[in-house]
Amino acid sequence: MLAGRKLVPTCSIGIAHYPADGDSLNALIKAADTALYEAKDLGKNRYSFYESEFTEKAEYRFQVEQHLREAVEQRQITLVYQPQIDIASGEIIGVEALSRWHHPQLGHVSPIDFIKIAEQIGLIKPLTEWILQTVCDQMAVWNSEGFSGIHTAVNISPDHFLDKGLVSLITDTLETKGIAFDKLELEVTESTVQTNAQNLSAFQRLKDLGISVAIDDFGTGYSSFSSLKHMNVDILKIDKSFIDDILTDEKTQVLVSSMIKMGHNLGYKIIAEGIESYAQLQLLQQLQCDIGQGYLFSKPITAKEMSAILGSNYRVREVEGSF
Ligand code: C2E
Ligand code: CA
Ligand code: CA
Repeated sequence: MLAGRKLVPTCSIGIAHYPADGDSLNALIKAADTALYEAKDLGKNRYSFYESEFTEKAEYRFQVEQHLREAVEQRQITLVYQPQIDIASGEIIGVEALSRWHHPQLGHVSPIDFIKIAEQIGLIKPLTEWILQTVCDQMAVWNSEGFSGIHTAVNISPDHFLDKGLVSLITDTLETKGIAFDKLELEVTESTVQTNAQNLSAFQRLKDLGISVAIDDFGTGYSSFSSLKHMNVDILKIDKSFIDDILTDEKTQVLVSSMIKMGHNLGYKIIAEGIESYAQLQLLQQLQCDIGQGYLFSKPITAKEMSAILGSNYRVREVEGSF
C-alpha cells in the first residue's frame, strides 16, 4: 500500500550469457540491458534472452531517436495522401494524410517505427500539430482549386487523443486556416476508445463541433463491443487484415458482413481499408460497405498528384471499365 493505493509491482528481466554475449562485466551488463529493453518492448512482466540482433535494433532505434527531433524541427517529414472512394458512386470523397520521413543517412524510415518512437520520446504533439497545420494548408489549396467537397483524415495517436489541449489545437488550426470543421476527420485506434470519462468527453466535444471521428483498425482490438456501447463516433474503419482474407475465408466474410450491418444499425459509416483487388471491391459493394481505400484505387501520393486526380474527375469505373 502506498499513500492509500494498492500497487502491484511486476518485473521485466534481461538475461545475458557469459561468454557468448560478452566477455567483460561491462559487455555483459550492456547485453542484459538490451535484452531487458526487448522484454519491456514485448509487453513487460516477462524475460528475454539476449540476441545479437537486439543490438542492431537498439542501435537503429537510437539513430532514429537522435534524428527524429531534428526532423520534426526542420520539417523533414512530409505528408502523402491516399484517396477514399464512395463505393456506390466511385467518386473520391476524401483522403487520409500519412506521414513519410526520408533521412539522408537512414533512408526511408517507416511511419510504424517513427510514430511509435515519437510517442515514446514526447514528440508526437509537435509532430501532430505540424501535420494538422500542413493538412489545413493543403485543404485550403484544394479549396482554391475547386475541390472543396473532400474531407481529410488525420491519424491521432492514443496518448495524444487524451491531451487536454487537443480539441482547442484542432479548432484553432481549422479556424486560422479557414477550414470548415466538417471537412476534418480524426482516425483513432480502438485502444483510445476506452470508456473512461475523459475519453468520452473528448469524443463528445469533437462531435458537437462537427468534426468526424473514425475508429481505425476496427476489429483488431479487444474492446470493440464495449466501446461501441458508450462511444459517439461517426465511422468504423475495418482493418486491412479482414479485407486481405475476405475472398478466401468464409468466416472473415461473415465477420465483415456483420460489422457492416452492426455499424449501419448504430448509425455509422463503414470504411474498408487495404482494398487491393476489384473482386474485393465488388464483394464489399454487395455487402453495402460505404467507403473504400486501398492500392486498387491509389497508393498514397503527393498533394500535387492528388490535385491532378481530383481534376481528372476520377471515377472507379474508368479504372476498371465496368464498375
Ligand atoms: P494506418 O492508419 O492503418 O494506415 C494505413 C496504412 O496502410 C498506410 O501505411 C497505407 O499506405 C497502407 N495501405 C493502404 N492501402 C493499402 C493496400 O491496399 N495495401 C497495402 N499493402 N497497404 C495499404 P503507412 O503509410 O505505411 O502507415 C502505417 C501506419 O503508420 C498507419 O496505419 C498509421 O497508423 C501510422 N501513421 C502514418 N502516418 C501517421 C501520422 O501522421 N500520425 C500517426 N499518429 N500515425 C501515422
Ligand atoms: Ca489510419
Ligand atoms: Ca488502419
